[in-house]
Amino acid sequence: MYSNTNKRLSELDEGDSAIIAKIMGHGSFRHRITEMGFVKGQIVKVIKRAPLQDPIEYEIMGYKVSLRKSEASLIEVISVNDVTNLEDPPHPDTLVEEQINAALQEKGNHINVALVGNPNSGKTTLFNYASGSHERVGNYSGVTVDAKEASIVRNGYVLNITDLPGTYSITEYTPEELYVRMHIIEKNPDIVINVVDASNIERNLFLTTQLIDMNIRVIMALNMYDELKNKNIDFDYNALGKMIGIPIIPTTAVKGEGVEELINKVIEVFEEKDPIVKHIHINYGQNIEEPITKLQAVIRKNPSITDSFSTRFLAIKLLEGDKTTLNLLKDCPNYEEINRISEEEIKELEAEYGDKSYSIITNAKYGFIAGALKETCVERETKDEGKHKKDIDDILTHRIWGYPIFLFFMWLMFQTTFTLGNYPMEWIDNGVSLLGDFLGKLIPEGAIHDLIIDGVIGGVGGVIVFLPNILILFLFISFMEDSGYMARVAFIMDKLMHKIGLHGKSFIPLLMGFGCNVPAIMATRTLENKKDRLLTMLIIPFMSCSARLPLYVLIISAFFHKYQGLILFSVYIIGIITAILMAILLKSTVFAKQDAPFVMELPPYRMPTAKNTLKHMWHKGSQYLKKMGTVILLASIIIWVLGYFPRNVNYSSNFDERIATIEASTTMPAAEKEAQIYELELEKIAEHQEKSYIGQIGPFIEPAIRPLGFDWKIGISLITGLAAKEIVVSSMGVLYTGE
Ligand code: GDP
Ligand code: MG
Repeated sequence: MYSNTNKRLSELDEGDSAIIAKIMGHGSFRHRITEMGFVKGQIVKVIKRAPLQDPIEYEIMGYKVSLRKSEASLIEVISVNDVTNLEDPPHPDTLVEEQINAALQEKGNHINVALVGNPNSGKTTLFNYASGSHERVGNYSGVTVDAKEASIVRNGYVLNITDLPGTYSITEYTPEELYVRMHIIEKNPDIVINVVDASNIERNLFLTTQLIDMNIRVIMALNMYDELKNKNIDFDYNALGKMIGIPIIPTTAVKGEGVEELINKVIEVFEEKDPIVKHIHINYGQNIEEPITKLQAVIRKNPSITDSFSTRFLAIKLLEGDKTTLNLLKDCPNYEEINRISEEEIKELEAEYGDKSYSIITNAKYGFIAGALKETCVERETKDEGKHKKDIDDILTHRIWGYPIFLFFMWLMFQTTFTLGNYPMEWIDNGVSLLGDFLGKLIPEGAIHDLIIDGVIGGVGGVIVFLPNILILFLFISFMEDSGYMARVAFIMDKLMHKIGLHGKSFIPLLMGFGCNVPAIMATRTLENKKDRLLTMLIIPFMSCSARLPLYVLIISAFFHKYQGLILFSVYIIGIITAILMAILLKSTVFAKQDAPFVMELPPYRMPTAKNTLKHMWHKGSQYLKKMGTVILLASIIIWVLGYFPRNVNYSSNFDERIATIEASTTMPAAEKEAQIYELELEKIAEHQEKSYIGQIGPFIEPAIRPLGFDWKIGISLITGLAAKEIVVSSMGVLYTGE
């Protein structure tokens, strides 16, 4: 008698009127349709159906709007004729508010709830207790063959509860899985209760991650709570709930404990009054997130699909090689494109990991679960399998040893960057000189000659010698990312990061900032909270990016002969300390305290393939090379031109004449002659530069940098660094030619 017999808007005939009872469908669809005026209690009338039934024209609030059939089928309505407690069904135009409310009371107050969970998690027990019936329950899987339904009345609502078959995941490998999946997709339950066996959380949460991907409203019943208490495990389920955006209610279904709270929570969430509910994205790591984004973009071209499904869910499913999802998209105009891209991306992913894409994603999900439980579950029993891996993790994420180990890796990284990078650096340096000499002889004397030799080769050459250092640095960063260690670093840094008002997750972008600030700032996308993202972006520039490395190496090589690696290391440390101070300052002033906990994934460790790490290193390094061929080249030429012209300046003394005099001298020894001429030539160049355009700009900025002990040449170099930090070196290369 309570079951839901309401129609969908798409089922009404031309001329019919109805009261809107419920908007279903995906979040963004609900939002859009609500803005158009389709809200609960409004009267809607069918004006005209197009010949092919699509779209359909409706009238609502005195406006005419047309909806696609797929959209209209997501709106549940109460046909005015179906309202039984009204005497003589009135004309829709004369319906008064009380009558609408009465109709909604009778027909529009049902909440469809589905119980989803692993076999033997206690769904049927919970269902029976809630509905008061006594279905047979058994502790072996397969007892629940079909879905059972029951209705209960609570707080003026009718809750239609469905007990679904047990399933370990939402895939397509067993009839149970397909059944649950179809129920969620087609029946569109308002709320899914995810029944979780608390004594086996890790495995049970796998299904939860899929429900999160589906972006549906979920409440978790943490069942068998009695067993959890016996196990002496300290589980902060409230913290977990906040992290994953799902309210968690502990229940002991056999004793009926927590069932009442669970039902109340269903109503609270349905009325959108629960503060915890939010949709989170499980971060699957760059290698998986990139194809997801790519696939989402092509799926999004089909509005009829996005109304009902989360594009993210579909993209993940496609990547898993899910045939059901492919079938679902079969009618899309760009199906071929979707299919092609998903095949390409799967192939790439599988080649990279040497594993099936489904397993890769599964591993990433378990990485998410491991991270979530590590923070909320204390004294968890370690399983025997994967013991070896756990041991490594215990050391690397140890609350004391984790830090020195991390510092050691950092030191190793910079030390190697410096020492190993020296050899190829010398080769490139020699190569650049040889090229300069070679071209110098080839190109006739004149402005073009000077431009190529001093401007281009002097400028770009000064920077390109640092390419090996940069590649080595990127190699380390790529290796740490690919192996899974970077995620552990984020984890151990979390407590520390909290002290400066940031999260462990901010740490990865900050660390990437050592490579290059640009991708680092892009990596802040993984941070859910806007303020955290902004704050992280603001302090990333304090991380010494690799573009600054040439400058450091140049200065350190010039002034220090011992402890070069250590000095480089300390330069970086000083940057970090400045960043920390800045973060504390910003957090206590501009950014008010606001905490939104989230899960830090702990992806499984894996030995990255050399090919893969090199590929990632090269990807980052090639951006550096690209910059060299564009910005740096152009800046070098501009600096050179500004220093080269005007050609005829008034020298304080006639250098050419003095040089000629020395050359003509017969008394001076040849070596002495050469030294004096060299000296004079330098003087001439220096004076020319001072009187060139760039020299004329110089004095303007000199007062600002004089206190630092710099001259105008360094000042100009620094200004050019605004475009790209490497240019400081190339500018100095150009400006200090001959010195
Ligand atoms: P389903 O497969 O998810 O429907 O699980 P069932 O409802 O059939 O329950 C499986 C077994 O777990 C049964 O033997 C139940 O008695 C038992 N069970 C259910 N809930 C609890 C609970 O909260 N605590 C304990 N200790 N056992 C429970
Ligand atoms: Mg059952």
